Amino acid sequence: ATMPPLLSAIANAGRHGVLVKSAVAMERLGEIDTVAYDKTGTLTEGTPRVIAVSPESPESPEPGFGERELLTLAAAVEHRSEHPIARAVTDAARERDLRLPEAYDFTSTPGRGVTATVAGRRVEVGAPARLLPARAQPDDGNTTVLVLVDGAPVGRLALADRPRPDAAAAVADLAELTGTPPVLLTGDGPAAAAGMASAVGIADVRAGLLPHEKAAAVRELTEAGRRVLVVGDGVNDAPALAAAHTGVAMGRAGSDLALETADAVVVRDELAAVPRAVRLSRRARRLVT
Ligand code: ADP
Ligand code: MG
Repeated sequence: ATMPPLLSAIANAGRHGVLVKSAVAMERLGEIDTVAYDKTGTLTEGTPRVIAVSPESPESPEPGFGERELLTLAAAVEHRSEHPIARAVTDAARERDLRLPEAYDFTSTPGRGVTATVAGRRVEVGAPARLLPARAQPDDGNTTVLVLVDGAPVGRLALADRPRPDAAAAVADLAELTGTPPVLLTGDGPAAAAGMASAVGIADVRAGLLPHEKAAAVRELTEAGRRVLVVGDGVNDAPALAAAHTGVAMGRAGSDLALETADAVVVRDELAAVPRAVRLSRRARRLVT
């Protein structure tokens, strides 16, 4: 028997680096008319590096609290997290040969950050706008995380991440395929979001979003009649992936929850695999109908 077009398309997509989970998912990929991207790990390589460690000088918690102490506390907590930011912070600590104290009662809140008890003190590391919402935040275009000890800010870490080499080309390709401007949905701050968006050619930027707010943005587009493709990788993207017409997860560094929630997974680590899969779907649909 000849293979039904959607099944051959699934096999083909697999050869092109995209694992599509069902014939329905394969069909829906070709129906999308708008693409919403996550930033960290999706448009970026997802391997940020710590580029600055800045203790909050005037109100330092104790004398001698400097860069090493700040990084040690942050890394002790991040040691327990799988977020790309966490990996950057623990790598920075390892490069400086810092010895990390034990962290207890670790909790992680997607879109916000992480917290644990270290040496009897509650340490929080996360998004400045979430941890200290009342305070104006300096925003220099880098991803910045704030460190609090027992609720008081003790410093910040700045991180830099690079766009994927094929991000701008894949975004442009999908924009041409859909004919509508793409959207960026990110939990990161407005300046870091705007910098990355302009680097890859996205004008519609929505920053500072919690996971349920990413999903709400997708539903809003859906209610306006759009069929939204969400491309994401994190735990924080799972609600948006579920709300999408079709959800695609970046597989290499993607969280288990994102991979389970998505309709398709990019197994070859290239964003350009996404427009390829959309084309294969459209071709198969023309054969089906
Ligand atoms: P994105 O949407 O760009 O993938 P996330 O929603 O994963 O970003 O994270 C949004 C923000 O939440 C980050 O920019 C950071 O400030 C904070 N955050 C999330 N997880 C962590 C963590 N493990 N350590 C520090 N900050 C975190
Ligand atoms: Mg992400």
